[in-house]
Amino acid sequence: MELVRKRVQIIFSLLMNANWAFPFTRSIYQGPLKIFCAPGLNCYSCPASTTYCPIGSLQNILAGVRLSLENSQYFFGLSVIGSMGVLGALFGRMICGWACPFGFIQELLHKIPSPKFIIPHPLNYGKYFMLFVVVILLPLLVVDEFGGSSPWFCKLICPAGTLEAGLPMLLLQPDLTSTIGLLFYNKLTILILILLWSILASRPFCRTICPLGGFYALVNRYRLVKLTLDTKRCTNCKACHHVCPMEVKFNENPNDPECISCMACLYKACKFEAISIEIGGIPMQSPRRAQGHPTQKTVVPISQIPGE
Ligand code: SF4
Ligand code: SF4
Repeated sequence: MELVRKRVQIIFSLLMNANWAFPFTRSIYQGPLKIFCAPGLNCYSCPASTTYCPIGSLQNILAGVRLSLENSQYFFGLSVIGSMGVLGALFGRMICGWACPFGFIQELLHKIPSPKFIIPHPLNYGKYFMLFVVVILLPLLVVDEFGGSSPWFCKLICPAGTLEAGLPMLLLQPDLTSTIGLLFYNKLTILILILLWSILASRPFCRTICPLGGFYALVNRYRLVKLTLDTKRCTNCKACHHVCPMEVKFNENPNDPECISCMACLYKACKFEAISIEIGGIPMQSPRRAQGHPTQKTVVPISQIPGE
């Protein structure tokens, strides 16, 4: 299953960044595919990007709300909010585990041999601060004399933007180096720190900073596709704790907002068929049972016990 997930992550990364003509055009793709919302964090300004980033677009909509209202234009970007809502309702944070290029990069970095550290749980709340304060409130409240604002998360923080857009565009258009200033160096420092942290801890950006992860975490409990726990089968052996990249204790909180549905607990840990996939409230058969794996809770008929 891990191999399947890796392949899906590669496919999504390539689909969201399918403009491989960028070394020749040396510019950002603006073609018809740019109407599609990327499910994960993938910078609009990445020269290879064929989709728009939901967080960048949401901020741009909010930054323009006052101007729109003042000009009696009632445009609230329902396609962006609708896309995020539909994706969140269907998959929640499964998107972080299966379809986000920046999540995939962090996973690859974490494979580099090094001491590994856990992330203190209170830091997980940082992503909600980013979502509500930096992504939503700042573009609405911090406005210039014309009533317009900026996508503050993109401008000040987003390491995905620096990696996928800022650095490649500097390589493609060296003249841009004359325009970089303190903001760019701050963002470059954030990117370097996040990449180093990703080697030492599992998915630190997803868990502590990513506002899109924060949004999907809020709706994670209600998503259509999720894992479910059979408490009658669970022995509290805690094997699922040890394989979880998000430090979720699945048997204690199956609806944990951090669960990215990577399915490591289901396929690698639980030998008791206590975890299964649920689609729209209907539990699917446990994969172990479907494959005929013997489990610790298999009841052996008395007639098959030697000597009986
Ligand atoms: S709880 Fe299971 S499916 Fe969810 S992130 Fe942890 S290992 Fe993956
Ligand atoms: S591995 Fe399975 S049986 Fe063990 S605690 Fe987790 S859910 Fe329960």
